[in-house]
Amino acid sequence: MAPIGAAIFVLAAALAGWALDPHRKVPLRKVFDPIEWVRHWQGRDRYDAENALLQEGDGTVPEVALTFDDGPDPTYGPQVAAILTAKHVPATFFLVGMRVKQYPEVARLLAGDGFELANHTYNHQDLPALKPHEIASELRLCDQDIFAATGRHTYLMRPPGVQYNDKMLHVTKALGYVTVSWTVGAKDYDKDTSAGFIKERVLDRTAPGAIILLHQDTPATVAALPAIIDGLRAQGFRFVTISQMLARLHAKLPAPQHP
Ligand SMILES: [Zn+2]
Repeated sequence: MAPIGAAIFVLAAALAGWALDPHRKVPLRKVFDPIEWVRHWQGRDRYDAENALLQEGDGTVPEVALTFDDGPDPTYGPQVAAILTAKHVPATFFLVGMRVKQYPEVARLLAGDGFELANHTYNHQDLPALKPHEIASELRLCDQDIFAATGRHTYLMRPPGVQYNDKMLHVTKALGYVTVSWTVGAKDYDKDTSAGFIKERVLDRTAPGAIILLHQDTPATVAALPAIIDGLRAQGFRFVTISQMLARLHAKLPAPQHP
């Protein structure tokens, strides 16, 4: 019977690995740890306090967060903001420092409209490939530019390409950041993606607690956005910022520490 037992365990571990993290970033030691399976089943891994890593919001309430990466974009950023404002939808924008430096007025517009601003690094580099002091510098420079443009500091960050590892999480947490992942990707970074595809993909995949990853530099996203908002509302979802999502999870946020 031992081989059957081993086979069942391996199968369970494979399923657990898939369920624990669709992005394949959970370390193997956790994939094979039944305690982690229970934590996942109970929803306690949605915010990983040990690493200050937000994977997903509370799955028991119909709240979802729209997030927009890679701005500020001088053409489409204001259009995204206008649609959200007209429909009274809060959202979180992950801004790239060097683009904030280029287009500070767009960052100011987003801040002035009441949107949540977050750190998407200065240069949009692959953070796991950098040394710890370089990762810290990417975050500090971006924060400085956002502060210079808007008077606001950041405490939420999303690594470019959502590429992270233990080294990066150690640095970001030490700097007082919460790292924000995603659960629904619209694939709108591909310039050939149509508005219809983006809308259908988001409406099909969104579940309570979803973090929806969109970009603000593609016309198809702008074209799809009104239907995404209306469609999700028709499904009974409410929109929240990432901060509100974290508060709902009763996360103990680390205090921002900036030099
Ligand atoms: Zn990005």
